[in-house]
Amino acid sequence: MPFSVRCLDCRYTAPYSPVATQCPRCNSQWREAEYDYETIAKILPSLLPRRPFDLWRYRELLPVRNPIPHLSLGEGGTPLIRAVNLGMMLGTPHLYIKDERQGPTASFKDRQAVITIAALKEAGINEIVVASTGNVAIAYSAYAARAGIKLWAFVTSLVPAVKMREIALYGSQVVKVTASYDQAKLLAAEFARQRGLYFDLGARAITSIESMKTIAFEISEQLTALVGPPARDDGLRLRAPDWYIQAISGGMGPMGVYKGFYELKGMGWIDRMPALAPIQAEGCAPMVNSWKKGLEEAEPVLTPRTHIETLATGNPGRAYTILRNQVKATGGVFESVSDEETYRAMHVLAKMEGISAEPAAAVAFAGLFKLVRAGIIKSDDVIVVNCTGHTMPTEPFVLGENWARSVVLPSRSEEKPQEGLLAALTNIAPERFRSIVIVDDSADSRRLIRRILQSQGDFRILETPDGQSGLALIQQELPDLIILDLMMPEMDGFAVLDHLKANPETAQIPVIVASAKELTPDEKSKLAGRIQSLMQKGDFLNDEFLEEVRSLIK
Ligand SMILES: *Cc1c(COP(=O)(O)O)cnc(C)c1O
Ligand SMILES: [Zn+2]
Repeated sequence: MPFSVRCLDCRYTAPYSPVATQCPRCNSQWREAEYDYETIAKILPSLLPRRPFDLWRYRELLPVRNPIPHLSLGEGGTPLIRAVNLGMMLGTPHLYIKDERQGPTASFKDRQAVITIAALKEAGINEIVVASTGNVAIAYSAYAARAGIKLWAFVTSLVPAVKMREIALYGSQVVKVTASYDQAKLLAAEFARQRGLYFDLGARAITSIESMKTIAFEISEQLTALVGPPARDDGLRLRAPDWYIQAISGGMGPMGVYKGFYELKGMGWIDRMPALAPIQAEGCAPMVNSWKKGLEEAEPVLTPRTHIETLATGNPGRAYTILRNQVKATGGVFESVSDEETYRAMHVLAKMEGISAEPAAAVAFAGLFKLVRAGIIKSDDVIVVNCTGHTMPTEPFVLGENWARSVVLPSRSEEKPQEGLLAALTNIAPERFRSIVIVDDSADSRRLIRRILQSQGDFRILETPDGQSGLALIQQELPDLIILDLMMPEMDGFAVLDHLKANPETAQIPVIVASAKELTPDEKSKLAGRIQSLMQKGDFLNDEFLEEVRSLIK
């Protein structure tokens, strides 16, 4: 399938070659690939059902003419996972996670790496240079190893040692640069220039942007399978989300994803562009800051101050201006989050959804939480968050001190082993945990509250689905805390409260009311002075709730 490359500045169209990195007419490095969309729109629908669900199923829309079968590690085709618990917590039931951790090098950079290495191999290139905050170098190293390409990886000294060693393990030359990422990039570019080697231009490389489109293609196909196609009668086939959220450094991901959705829309396969929400770490957020100031060009951050090294692009250059226009055009927004918010989000994601991502990916989730709370993302919106990331080098920041319990079994041989074991186990888990009773008629709510509480410590958690049995359980158990729903059939929460307060045995037990609906002033006054705290469902992430539980149960 023929395609060409158009200059974004002078609109000149040239044939594609991965090593020609500039417009032959005006020398601009900002260009984009163009395909024969009319023909592809006709042939691709009948080809797709016969192809495996990986990145190569969209090969007519990729800049590699002859995919090299033995290069593949099974890249692309990552699952789209419904985040039921997180969605319930946030009050956004249509929340999906594009799990890019499941790619062969555990970040979405493997898409970029395989397309770039395939294109370079096709062009006969055998030695290349990349600058990286870690994941690009890992992904490129893996594919370079398969392709027999020699790779020079310039990484900043802040990149975690485990990542550097993995780069070296693939046989790449690791160059550790004690400087900012932007400086490391300049150094790598100069090194490549002096030696006449190919230097990867990140967001300016055709292969980078083109590879990221496949995320948009996959999401659309997956959402259509999970949620169903949009209205059938206008002939549309695929469903696009309302939001695409991603943590960014240089912004290449969302730029490519934008182009992917744009092409789908152009071919009439989706009916809307999702709003883009690129999220940065507060300590290195040149794009967010510039966006909030209304600037068309980015003000660079010279000294990044964040532990999240993966996202440390301080000078985005023109990528900001391009991404800004895309964010604007889609009704999206840039946002930043602190390292602390990020670690909290990382912990919540792991505990609520069983997904452990690197801090850089958690930045996207912290951004999601912020945008939902600000009312920018609405409860009915279909949301997709890109979850990617290689390792967890930041565990200590997230877990605090007491993250493990130790068991030492006695070695004295005369003692029966069971006795020592039992004694040791008693130390691990004391018999009497503080207890909490949840009275709520919704099984989903009870499950959610239980999870949140379990994530906060060792409680004995008991639940009942109605007021009558709740009251009986409370009188029998005399718990340390009650979490009470108001709207329940038969005996509602107000009646339960009346009974509790009338009984001296239960009158002093603290009560947190969890309500699915906004209360009327009259209802609020009925609760006044009788409960410790009122909580809206969908607002469970509110740290005040967890603080409240901790303080009430002390
Ligand atoms: C590269 C990377 C990012 C940022 O990607 P860009 O789209 O290039 O800004 C975010 N998270 C992780 C884990 C990454 O590896
Ligand atoms: Zn040009």
